[in-house]
Amino acid sequence: MDKMRVLVVGGAGYIGSHTARKLAEAGCEAVIYDNLSAGHRDAVAKLNFVEGDLLETEKLIDTLKAHRIEAVIHFAAFALVGESVTDPAKYYQNNITGTLSLLDAMRAADVSRIVFSSTCATYGIPASSPIDETFPQSPVNPYGFTKLAIEHALQDYSHAYGMSYAALRYFNAAGASPAGDIGEDHKPESHLIPLVLQVALGQRKSISIFGDDYPTDDGTCIRDYIHVDDLADAHLAAMEKITPDNCLKLNLGTGRGASVLEIIEACRQVTGHEIPAEIGPRREGDPPALVANPAQAHKILDWQPKYMDVRETIETAWRWHQSHPQGFAQ
Ligand code: UDP
Repeated sequence: MDKMRVLVVGGAGYIGSHTARKLAEAGCEAVIYDNLSAGHRDAVAKLNFVEGDLLETEKLIDTLKAHRIEAVIHFAAFALVGESVTDPAKYYQNNITGTLSLLDAMRAADVSRIVFSSTCATYGIPASSPIDETFPQSPVNPYGFTKLAIEHALQDYSHAYGMSYAALRYFNAAGASPAGDIGEDHKPESHLIPLVLQVALGQRKSISIFGDDYPTDDGTCIRDYIHVDDLADAHLAAMEKITPDNCLKLNLGTGRGASVLEIIEACRQVTGHEIPAEIGPRREGDPPALVANPAQAHKILDWQPKYMDVRETIETAWRWHQSHPQGFAQ
């Protein structure tokens, strides 16, 4: 691939750090820009690092110019659905105002290429699954609205200012680098697989299943868990492909769904631990099933996920959690 100079905004976070590593392995110069509000310096220890916030437009301009950046991959966002309902200002301010600041900085520094983290949450509660890119986008929470707003901004900026963009709509990112040295570390943790693995580690007594009365085969919610390294590969492919006349909006998932019960069972098999589970109430805003139709991404990016069996994805996560039971050092 072209050995580009890339600014990875939010690059010290979970998906960002795995993508930054892939960029470096591909011979690109990856510069990390992160405010460390949720990211970890240790996740990108060997890479060029600038500590800064999305709202610091001048610092962004300086960084883009100083490193002669050719493309931006933008991960910096708050991404918890429940929190976006209780504290929408945090989400609108960072995810929208912050991203508009980044786009201003890119225009000022003459950088026209951006890969943006969007989400399946822009589809709201889809009428059916699997979901393809033509499904109506009508989010049901502030998080989804902020991501959809930026998709619209990118389309308009591309038309007016010649920006090239890809909006990659992720399903559920999971797993860790197979080397086991970087992985998922959210504090507090709210995602299913790391929580279940914390039960296996003895850090929690049991996992609460958020509802077992959904209209699915076993009554629990179905999600499409895609390995973080597969997501990373898709970003590199998208970054290369985009031009002002070829902007991309693509679903990134495996195309296979797993229920909450199936994930817990897979974690039992991988870890050999019993993992007690109990049925709790539904979590507000959870659609019953979200599974990608990834056919467009396969075709346009010439990309296929390598991890198609969720147990293999969980194995990589387990390796990371076992070797880093408290996550990254504080
Ligand atoms: N979930 C659960 N118990 C938990 C955390 C999550 O049953 O302690 C369920 C949640 O309702 C959803 C699925 O697991 O159906 C994945 O949730 P997660 O928060 O990992 O990702 P999301 O789908 O919200 O992006």
